[in-house]
Amino acid sequence: MFGFLKKKLKESIDKISNVIKPKEEIPIEKVEELIEEVKEEEKEIEKIVKKPKHKIKEKVKEELKKVGIIEKIKKAVVEKKISEDDLKDVLWDLQISLIESDVAVEVAEKIVSDLKDSLIGKSVKKKEIEKIVKDSLEKSILDILDVDSLDLLERVKTKKPFLIVFLGFNGSGKTTTIARIGYMLKNNGLKCVFAAGDSWRAAAIEQLEEHGKKLGIEVIKQKYGSDPAAVIFDAVKHAKSKDINVVLADTAGRSHANINLVDELKKVCRVNKPDLKILVLDALTGNDIYDQCKMFNNAVGVDALIITKADVYDKGGAALSASHTINKPTLYFGVGQKYEDLEKFDSKKIVNNLLS
Ligand code: GDP
Repeated sequence: MFGFLKKKLKESIDKISNVIKPKEEIPIEKVEELIEEVKEEEKEIEKIVKKPKHKIKEKVKEELKKVGIIEKIKKAVVEKKISEDDLKDVLWDLQISLIESDVAVEVAEKIVSDLKDSLIGKSVKKKEIEKIVKDSLEKSILDILDVDSLDLLERVKTKKPFLIVFLGFNGSGKTTTIARIGYMLKNNGLKCVFAAGDSWRAAAIEQLEEHGKKLGIEVIKQKYGSDPAAVIFDAVKHAKSKDINVVLADTAGRSHANINLVDELKKVCRVNKPDLKILVLDALTGNDIYDQCKMFNNAVGVDALIITKADVYDKGGAALSASHTINKPTLYFGVGQKYEDLEKFDSKKIVNNLLS
């Protein structure tokens, strides 16, 4: 998963690490500076050995001098103060690589700027630089992914029936996700019902019915073309009368003749007051994910995200920055076509995978 982004990050880490060359030449001013320092040190040593109580032998004196100069030269060869100029090209390459991997521009800029802050002006040893770069990337990515999350299984127990409305464009994996969430809730001892709120697509109603049949979950529907707000209202009423825990409602994913998608979703929410609105996003749409997040969030307010097709999405960046775009948590990744192919979003796991 996310192999492309992982590869790009690795290439950048290698490039940045090479900012310090193993055999970097010592500039002449540095050598002069060192000689001055050693002279000062020699004077100090002379002062000490002249005192009678310090009976330091000639050999020890020599050793002390040697250690001083060797240590200093070693330091100058392997340690380097990093300047903005050293990093200009490699940081630009990193920014381009991140954007190529679908990372949102503002997120890419944050990653690069954090990295710059942790390197410029610092005296860094060759063998330490890779760790500093990795630590900085880890911290930035964790910051980006650090959006107040919620535990779906716990949240749905706070009310009965608990209504979840699923939003998202056609083909994003909404129906499949509803079925997976139903499967997960059922396995956790919670009763659910599906509401066929995408009443403008006969195929969507049929698809939900098919999942319902396989999973043993009832589907509340009305005839093709009926008002989605009314279908969901019915499902909630049904759930109340049957002591059902959760209503999982599908919605339309595109505009229909004379009916605006946004108006329809607003009506669904106004009439039914969902307890949670989950936006389902197809990772393969890449950068378009950000516009989708903003569009649905502006229309009705999104509480959380589920990103599908993460199993076939190599670039990775959209999954990394979708939550950050609207400051709403990603709860799960869809990682295949089976009911159990739902993976809980775990920021530490993502970072470890990307930087390992
Ligand atoms: P909807 O139009 O939003 O309801 O989308 P569907 O649920 O019908 O999904 C569209 C297609 O994406 C179907 O062929 C699904 O099997 C497929 N799909 C959904 N989620 C995933 C996933 O996580 N991974 C993969 N590989 N395919 C998925």
